[in-house]
Amino acid sequence: MQLFPCPFCGWRDEREFLFIAEAGKERPDTTQKISDEDWARYLHSIRNDKGAVREVWMHLTCGELFILERDSVTMEVIGSIALRKDAA
Ligand SMILES: [Zn+2]
Repeated sequence: MQLFPCPFCGWRDEREFLFIAEAGKERPDTTQKISDEDWARYLHSIRNDKGAVREVWMHLTCGELFILERDSVTMEVIGSIALRKDAA
């Protein structure tokens, strides 16, 4: 079992969290024509970088979204940042 730090609730069991997306992944401008390949790439492709990564996670217990920084090789948690602007 691994512990993840929710910026609002503190360290919790990883089973309380849901991976949402890579942080910084840009959604294509859907007001413009976009190819099926580009849309599929956006929906289904991930960089899967080795080392330090930033990901958006949700803590299912409190429902808050946050950035989790972790090392994808060692699984070490580097930190977490709340996405809600009024978070402490
Ligand atoms: Zn929480």
